[in-house]
Amino acid sequence: MKTIKITLAFAFLALNLGFGQEKEENQILITNVKVWDGISDKTIDADVLIEGNKFKEIRTGLKAPKGSTVIDGQGGTLIPGLIDMHTHIMLWGGTTEGTYEYDAYGQGARAIKMAEMLLEMGYTTIRDIGGNSLSIARLVNEGKLQGPRIYSAGPVISQTGGHGDWGPSNEGPGEGNYQTMVRNTHVVDGVPEVIKATRWNFRNGANFIKVMAGGGVASTFDPLNMTQMNIDELKAIVEVANAYESYVAVHSYHDRSYNQALDAGVKSFEHGFLITEPTVKRMSETEGVFWSWQPYGSYTLFAGGFPEWFTPDMIEKGTAVNKGALLVPPLMRKHGVTVVLGSDMFGDEVIYARQNIVSAKEVPDTGYTDLEIMKMATSNPGKVLTMSGPGRDPYKEAKLGVIEVGAWADLNIWSEDPTKDVKVLESDDNLKLIIKDGKVYKNSL
Ligand SMILES: [Zn+2]
Repeated sequence: MKTIKITLAFAFLALNLGFGQEKEENQILITNVKVWDGISDKTIDADVLIEGNKFKEIRTGLKAPKGSTVIDGQGGTLIPGLIDMHTHIMLWGGTTEGTYEYDAYGQGARAIKMAEMLLEMGYTTIRDIGGNSLSIARLVNEGKLQGPRIYSAGPVISQTGGHGDWGPSNEGPGEGNYQTMVRNTHVVDGVPEVIKATRWNFRNGANFIKVMAGGGVASTFDPLNMTQMNIDELKAIVEVANAYESYVAVHSYHDRSYNQALDAGVKSFEHGFLITEPTVKRMSETEGVFWSWQPYGSYTLFAGGFPEWFTPDMIEKGTAVNKGALLVPPLMRKHGVTVVLGSDMFGDEVIYARQNIVSAKEVPDTGYTDLEIMKMATSNPGKVLTMSGPGRDPYKEAKLGVIEVGAWADLNIWSEDPTKDVKVLESDDNLKLIIKDGKVYKNSL
């Protein structure tokens, strides 16, 4: 028995070392491109050299190192790989139906398809903000499955009757349902229960925590104007997150719930389409606080009518949100709140993820320029994602969302410059090259 163990250990070691051969770092030189670094006001002419999975050199006149792959960018614009800060790859067909027909394995297999679709659309990183994508995130991050880099919140944390309570109406208190069984959501009440759920998420690798802190549009039991979780529960969740040097994100729409979450020390504020100027001002004055914006779901989509499965109650809630979707973005700009874009699409709807960036420009009179909008899908998220902290940030070793020497080699090449017109993102035909982690995933140059 002992001999077998030793032999196996040696076999494993040999595989890892490639039988003593030194592994050469893959090099890619990209020429003939305009480079937008994710931060600057302008593009520059430069060649970009990738070594392994990082950017090695960015300047004009670079010579191709021996054995490197050379890609002619054909005058396109090279930008950081896109980042979507609000996805739900584990959920589709709504949260109270659809997924019920499949067990967790089917659901996971399907989620991988969603992740692959996002990568093929130019997304090299996503923040999956609710749904049990914890194992899938780990497998992608370990390179065992294909997809964008994933920061996962794991199961959402909701109170009974909250926006994450997706059980049937005849379910008794604490009985559980399909969505709690596959751990897309924890339905928990009281400080000890919320602490246990939050710790369970971190135990299983969550990079941050998502809490349902106010009413939602597409849920059955909760009016939009209610607060969810009391201040003690919220503070307890934030305390656990802080113990991991990580942070908490909240789903919420209105002043009362935003302010309660600010009191508790929450940093990531989703939706918020019913908040007023004093709350926006308070956000801008609070260290580390940022807003995650869904222009497609709140404005463009609802402007075209509501989904067929919406109940009259959901339509009323959606109408209020659609109105607020016009008012809140200009206030965020006025007060200089850090903004990131998140599409909030479920399942197959991820094909609209890029439309969420285009929609940010479609909302009238926000004042945001195309350049500012592109930052919300690249460098702003890159910065915000480091808030997962050294113990829970899987990519802490280098920067995300920027084209910079030493940063992770994640990029897109577009035929035209999206910082001048985000509409370029509407068509796949304009997307010429996708590189994630130094590997080419699309090349139509
Ligand atoms: Zn969402």
